[in-house]
Amino acid sequence: MCGIVGYVGRKQACGILLEGLRRLEYRGYDSSGTAVVGRDGSIRTTRAVGRIAALAEKLDPASCDARTGIGHTRWATHGRPSEANAHPHAGGDGSVILVHNGVVENFRELAAPLQAKGYVFRSETDTEVVAHLIADLLAKRLEAIDVRPEGSEAVDLLLDVIRSAVAQLRGTYGLLMIFRDWPEYLFAARLGSPLVIGIGLDEHYVASDASPLA
Ligand code: GLU
Repeated sequence: MCGIVGYVGRKQACGILLEGLRRLEYRGYDSSGTAVVGRDGSIRTTRAVGRIAALAEKLDPASCDARTGIGHTRWATHGRPSEANAHPHAGGDGSVILVHNGVVENFRELAAPLQAKGYVFRSETDTEVVAHLIADLLAKRLEAIDVRPEGSEAVDLLLDVIRSAVAQLRGTYGLLMIFRDWPEYLFAARLGSPLVIGIGLDEHYVASDASPLA
């Protein structure tokens, strides 16, 4: 179980995520990654094997104007350390992106029906199934309504979707999720894995321990 950091607010997210991951380095990890979502719904995912310095080389904070993002240092439990297995992982057509600390014990049984529906798995991790599960539940909910929800209606719907997804998980999780179509929000869920929330003025931080928030 390794490190998680997330940011939503007015500042440029990439630099904050990178600094947060550096502060989590002491926990040890085999790979790392970030995903940020711009106000236009453009998602930028960056992943690297090895040191945070390798991620920093790929991630140019100066060219990043996204204000919402998630970051992760991975300690592989399912699937070897590789760029494809590094988090964040995307669900469906990229409607949701998430990072996860912990272990999803029933990932195989959850994956089978999603694979049968055509969801394509791109990693060997137990984590990716959570992303596809959320994407699938979200797609079903959106199919049933005509207009894409905004504001508190969107939050209620996304919370509902996340709750029904995590209710199906067996194991432990600290999860941070961002949604392509609602870039102004960052969602977190935990069971058996630590997460702390830093509440600020017009900005919030989430991390697996307090060091990125200090
Ligand atoms: N079980 C997940 C994986 O192997 C998360 C590992 C972690 O907590 O870093 O990708």
